[in-house]
Amino acid sequence: MTRISVVVPCYNEQDVLEVFYCEAARLAESMPEVCFEFIFVDDGSGDRTLELLKELQHRDSRVRYYSFSRNFGKESAIYAGMEKSSGDYVAIIDADLQDPPGLIKDMYAAIITDGYDCVATRRIDRAGEPPIRSFFARRFYRIINRISDVKLVDGERDFRLMTRQMVDSILQVCECTRFSKGIFAWVGFKTKWLEYDNRKRAAGSTKWSFWKLFLYSLDGIIAFSTTPLAISSIIGAVFFTLALIMAGSLMVQQLAGGGAPNTWAGLVAILLFITGIQLFCMGIVGQYLSRTYLETKNRPKYILREYSEN
Ligand code: UDP
Ligand code: MG
Repeated sequence: MTRISVVVPCYNEQDVLEVFYCEAARLAESMPEVCFEFIFVDDGSGDRTLELLKELQHRDSRVRYYSFSRNFGKESAIYAGMEKSSGDYVAIIDADLQDPPGLIKDMYAAIITDGYDCVATRRIDRAGEPPIRSFFARRFYRIINRISDVKLVDGERDFRLMTRQMVDSILQVCECTRFSKGIFAWVGFKTKWLEYDNRKRAAGSTKWSFWKLFLYSLDGIIAFSTTPLAISSIIGAVFFTLALIMAGSLMVQQLAGGGAPNTWAGLVAILLFITGIQLFCMGIVGQYLSRTYLETKNRPKYILREYSEN
């Protein structure tokens, strides 16, 4: 019998777990030809999430849970879930029902009948999202697609079903600061895209603040493009040329017996401007350096505190 593992990262999801489980169980019922396992990864929740997961596991032997020693982030939770999964196909889905579990049936059909390795999803709209967040999200996709070799799809979700071969390839990418959407694209394979309207969370609230999302987008850019490093060289070259032109024109002015040279205010402005640019460029280099530093430590991506028996 074909086996599908459903990986669900959970961080403080006590309000939605029961509803999610019911939907997931309904999906399993509608696919009697498939054997399911539900892998819930508790990402260091501070609420009753783990307690509820234990209850679910008691009720249903298809449920397994892994609980982290602290909050390691959704990326680590996804990684752990994939690592512990044993199915021929692996689905990744949010717990809050923004990703409709019923879609896994269509994904499976597309993989089986059309020979895809992965069926991924994207939201066609961003209804209900704060406009500022949508604005920056769109900019992010435009920038990363321009400066990176991997191509991301605007509005793409982590919600997808993949073959075991693709999951094993993703697990081989062992960087610690993970940006899954980039890794999915980087490993390649034949991917089909399904689209659906944006949905509201079933309950609870989002775990992503604007700042957290901003830092995450920086991780994405730094992990999949080195173009920002070239910025410092380009700016350096531009300023060198400007300096040559200025020196030349000053010399001409002096030789022609022109007026007094620049005032102090002008000098201070130029100084501030140049040091600002220099610090900015050093900052970019620093960002890459810090990621290199973190990667060389090779720390584990997560630490388990407890997990279900089966
Ligand atoms: N999540 C997680 N660890 C975190 C943040 C989020 O495992 O540090 C999980 C969360 O429980 C949910 C999924 O990742 O299942 C998506 O989170 P959320 O709904 O808050 O994000 P949004 O849909 O607002 O982008
Ligand atoms: Mg959500």
